[in-house]
Amino acid sequence: MKEFVIATNNKKKLSEIQRILAPLGIEPVTAADKGIDLGDVEENGSTFSENAYIKAKAAYDKCGLPVIADDSGLCVDALGGRPGIYSARYGGHDSPYTVKIGMLLDELKDVPAPDRTAHFSCAVCCILTSGEVIAVEGRCNGEIASAPSGDGGFGYDPVFTVNGKSFASLSSEEKDRLSHRGNALRMLYDELHSRKEDL
Ligand code: IMP
Repeated sequence: MKEFVIATNNKKKLSEIQRILAPLGIEPVTAADKGIDLGDVEENGSTFSENAYIKAKAAYDKCGLPVIADDSGLCVDALGGRPGIYSARYGGHDSPYTVKIGMLLDELKDVPAPDRTAHFSCAVCCILTSGEVIAVEGRCNGEIASAPSGDGGFGYDPVFTVNGKSFASLSSEEKDRLSHRGNALRMLYDELHSRKEDL
């Protein structure tokens, strides 16, 4: 198994990344496992993939080990793709998800069901020990429900539905199979494999 440092301070995201990568023969370790403090990185890119690169490069510069970073978010069609790259900052950086979700439902209160389409995007950037950069992007299409449901997952999962079920009401395995993050990390695995990385 090859070790990759996962460049995130988001514990929920980290556990999903670990859960998806471990069966693929990639051993995800945290920066803390390696005694590295990632600190705060300014995500000032204008796309998910630019922000994923910014996070991966900052971690790579600190540790010189293979790193994987993700930048993700929710894009709602009726809102012109918002909150998009600002998903974590929507409704205030530190506001709880109950508040962010309440605000989102309020913005969509007059939008009828057929027009509540949305997708999650996840850009993953991996930097190998050699400095080679591998970038992939995964997506999951769905809809925004009229009310939250389910108690699993994190973030906007209670209102993001696929085939009528919210991400928060799916098992971890079901979410990983459908999710933007699962899709992106499986693409990354294929890229690593095609480079004959020693996995
Ligand atoms: P990032 O950590 O800067 O990539 O911000 C990601 C934002 O999108 C956070 O607000 C997350 O809650 C949200 N987000 C990303 N992926 C998911 C997911 O799988 N479920 C729910 N919310 C997500």
